[in-house]
Amino acid sequence: MLTDRFGRRHTTLRLGLTERCNLRCVYCMPEAGVPLTPTRAMLTTDEVGRLAALLVRAGVDKVRLTGGEPLARKDAVEVAERIGRLGLRSLALTTNGVLLESRLPALARAGLTDLTVSLDTLRPDRFQAITRRPGLDRVLSALDAALALGYGTDGRSLKVNVVALKDVNEDEVADFAAWAAREPIEVRFIEVMPFGGNGWDRSELVPMAQTRAAIEDALGPLDRCDDARDSTAQTFRQPGWRGRVGFVASMTAPFCAGCSRLRVTADGALKVCLFGNAEVSLRDAMRAGASDAELARAVQTALDGKHAAHAGMDPMAITEDRPMITIGG
Ligand code: SAM
Ligand code: SF4
Repeated sequence: MLTDRFGRRHTTLRLGLTERCNLRCVYCMPEAGVPLTPTRAMLTTDEVGRLAALLVRAGVDKVRLTGGEPLARKDAVEVAERIGRLGLRSLALTTNGVLLESRLPALARAGLTDLTVSLDTLRPDRFQAITRRPGLDRVLSALDAALALGYGTDGRSLKVNVVALKDVNEDEVADFAAWAAREPIEVRFIEVMPFGGNGWDRSELVPMAQTRAAIEDALGPLDRCDDARDSTAQTFRQPGWRGRVGFVASMTAPFCAGCSRLRVTADGALKVCLFGNAEVSLRDAMRAGASDAELARAVQTALDGKHAAHAGMDPMAITEDRPMITIGG
């Protein structure tokens, strides 16, 4: 099940819990926010639980909760508890970290194995400029709490996502790498991607090769680590480091060949590729009374149409698509 025409098995589900967000990152959202889908069109807790369960039966063994800001959804912990009971290899969360600290113990009890916190700068004034909101202290405090709970060790991963932006935070990449040397954190540098409404411009891109060179200039040569075939990142470290750095080169070195990812948006649309605009509404099918077998068939039919690779940078920049925040990164 869940294998496409190119033999790629789809074992990872990215589940958008909400389109809402408490931040307004410049590369993700316009300052005024994006038009939100009405609440009645969003998947309920039960619908999310049903879809996750049936996709797990079909072969998914990793679920990542994302958004929007997943913790902006009131029942986020309840959703994590339900999905945690499905017996997954990995239950992961991507969050901006602002609302994380108080929810972290409950999420850990629910079985959260992999935590990713997005943080593009270690400087308060830049945090405000990039996210258009205050909150750096809360994010750093949540990261300390995650380390204290054992994330980063004991088989539970801790990652920090950094979107590298030209002339904005590129001078901080070595500081982030030095952090990964001291703490058991994987800092992942992400190339900025074009999406509807984010006003992406090629000149903002900091290619992976440039980020890596800046780190090596400051700290010395990096050694490549072994990465899983379907990993979105190429990771590196130096002897003696507690953590590592990773590069998500979606633009300069796309990783479509090993893609194992399915996405379901907060309003129940299945997307088989982050960059394609083809969608199937699993919400409409569920609300029209589809059985689990019919839903599974709809997923497989969508997968049968999945392309080998995305179309490249420039076509993507002009493709009419949902804003990133409504897809779930
Ligand atoms: N709100 C949560 C967060 O920020 O972690 C989860 C959703 S966010 C859309 C998921 C990830 O996508 C974040 O790490 C964010 O930095 C990244 N992201 C958003 N827009 C992006 C873009 N245009 N290019 C590259 N990464 C982007
Ligand atoms: Fe919100 Fe995450 Fe988008 Fe930033 S990247 S605006 S935190 S959804």
